[in-house]
Amino acid sequence: MATLTQPEQHYIDRYGPTPSYVPAGGWENGEPDKLVKTHCCFCGVQCGIQLKVKDNKVIGFEPWEEFPVNQGKLCPKGVKRYLQNEHPDRILAPLERTEHGFNETTWEQSLDRTASEIQRIQAQYGKDAFAFLGGASMTNEKAYLNGKFARIALGTKNIDYNGRLCMVSAGAANKMAFGIDRCANPWSDIPKAKALIIAGSNIAECFPILTDYVWKARDNGCKIIIIDPRITPIARTADLFLPVRPGRDSALAHGILHELVKQDWVDHEFINAHTNGFEAVRDLVKEYTPEYTEKITGVPASSIIECAKIWHEAGNAMLLHARGIEHHTKGVENVLSYINIVLASGYIGKEGSGYGTITGQGNGQGGREHGQRCNQLPGGRDINNPEHREHIADFWGVEESSLPPEGLTACEILNAIETGEIKGLLSISFNPLVSIPDSERTRKALEKLEFFACIDFFLNETARYADIFFPGSLQEEDEGTVTTGEGRCVRLRNSVSPPGQARLDWQIIQGLADRLGAKKHFNFNSAGEIFQELTAASKGGTNDYSGMTYDRIEKENGIFWPCPDTEHPGTPRLFEGGQFNHPDGKAKFFAHPYRAPDEDVDSDFPLFLTTGRVVSQYLSGTQTRRIGNLVDQYPEPLCEIHPLLAEKLGIRDGEKITVKTRRGDMQLPAQVVKTIRPDTLFIPYHWAGKKAANQLTNRALDPISKIPEFKVCACRIEKLS
Ligand code: SF4
Repeated sequence: MATLTQPEQHYIDRYGPTPSYVPAGGWENGEPDKLVKTHCCFCGVQCGIQLKVKDNKVIGFEPWEEFPVNQGKLCPKGVKRYLQNEHPDRILAPLERTEHGFNETTWEQSLDRTASEIQRIQAQYGKDAFAFLGGASMTNEKAYLNGKFARIALGTKNIDYNGRLCMVSAGAANKMAFGIDRCANPWSDIPKAKALIIAGSNIAECFPILTDYVWKARDNGCKIIIIDPRITPIARTADLFLPVRPGRDSALAHGILHELVKQDWVDHEFINAHTNGFEAVRDLVKEYTPEYTEKITGVPASSIIECAKIWHEAGNAMLLHARGIEHHTKGVENVLSYINIVLASGYIGKEGSGYGTITGQGNGQGGREHGQRCNQLPGGRDINNPEHREHIADFWGVEESSLPPEGLTACEILNAIETGEIKGLLSISFNPLVSIPDSERTRKALEKLEFFACIDFFLNETARYADIFFPGSLQEEDEGTVTTGEGRCVRLRNSVSPPGQARLDWQIIQGLADRLGAKKHFNFNSAGEIFQELTAASKGGTNDYSGMTYDRIEKENGIFWPCPDTEHPGTPRLFEGGQFNHPDGKAKFFAHPYRAPDEDVDSDFPLFLTTGRVVSQYLSGTQTRRIGNLVDQYPEPLCEIHPLLAEKLGIRDGEKITVKTRRGDMQLPAQVVKTIRPDTLFIPYHWAGKKAANQLTNRALDPISKIPEFKVCACRIEKLS
């Protein structure tokens, strides 16, 4: 067994002996036939792992120490990931709903019926009455295929993906400020920073292996500043913690920038040479004095001043953020406000200086690049741009006029199902019943569909409403690539074949395209062929992968895009020399005044509710709620509540309480912790039905990114009699 590193020891201390490289019970299944180098199927760090395979089964794993990102280390989820392979819940044949429940059916019958229902609905109600929902945990190849399938085979404008619930606020803001949507720096720059601001990111639980990079930075003398309503594990060793009131992030960013401007701690040379729009931001932040900002955010004025001082004195620094500032009706404005700090300081485009959004889903980066978003074509192209449309139509060999326009986003698709505008749905690797706010509305919408087909490897909660269920494939059952949160495209290797009659996802999509009369556009024999088409389609786009091949990616331990030709080394760090991706080469400041959340606290609902993840679970829990050891670690949702509030309400640790919002209520045990603001409750969102936090959350959307406001709504506690 490998020697434990500091993060591994941390997890042992905090969560018990999970980071061991020996699964519980040891290697019971004997020596493997082969070791396959691939990547973890969970978060955007995409740690390298070697799967041990015997008799077409994954029986364990070994560390892959040469992969530079995690160097053999894994978090509790990565360690247990392979335990779902032999899970008895795996669906092994297509299912068809009957009046008595699901019956097994044949591939021919299920594909034929789905194609004929699509044709019936589209003939009766129009092409856009049939929608497609994809996922950001799928490979780049599948993301590309999904987009092409929706535009050519279905001819619908209504395709979107579950990254709409994740990274889209950051993506939109990055495009607006920099002209490109990608982390500006490789993770290897983190330990070189002299100050780090980490805003709204519970790194230790959501992207655990990145904790190692933060600790390396600290060991190198970096000052760490954490902004969060909760004292998350990473905050416990921070130099400065700013306990922001939920929903006030942009005000806090303005307050920090106010102090930087007031002290003249901004880089005038950089601002003048490489940016536009600073004057408006400088004028905007004038009123956000530390005292005024304290009133809005609850963060002491002295901490705001100290934050600005640490940031300035560092000389080079990085700002990282995640869903904590993005899951808001002003998620884009929050991100832009933090980017203002980076640009004003000139801390970007240099080693150890820069900016990044930490990607939540396994392929959160690549999943948003290749055309499965409602407003996007391959290569990160804009579906509303006539030149981009012409280019991709040419490439696909179709008329530009046949490409649908921009369609609805994921939550809007659910809303349109609710109103009857959309009648049919095909979804893949998306579980909206658990992951979209106001789940009772989602449930009613699903019941209204005239036809619903679903592709997944487990019968997730949403799939139970399907008319046809197609058994798809796990990550290790196919080839492909994903693009990590730092913009590095890495290769997934096929380890085993799908069990029973389950099929590779792309073969299922292709089978449907065939029946919909689009066979000539979908003649792929492997994921590798899809990748070749994807890279060619991306050529000349912002997200240019055209210099990548599977062989190169494998040999080079991943390649950072843009990579426009086979001799190009890839681009680990963006914006070097202050060159940004807007036509004039300059970055843009944006001046958005702070505005309150869609639903603020009042006398009826006096507490803030915020939601998020725990380390042993992943997204809607379809995979992790089936892995016993992970379930044992955190079996059901708990409601974090501060001791002062608990005492005031007479609530004891472990006591069941009711948390109520304007959308619903749920009963769950209280977890009394000192690590949360006394005016805020926290509930993790990985469970379904009566245990779903999204029964309570607010579906109000950011006007630009269309992300829902998961991170703040108003609630109250009622004691159970
Ligand atoms: Fe690495 Fe993320 Fe997988 Fe954990 S969940 S092993 S941090 S990729």
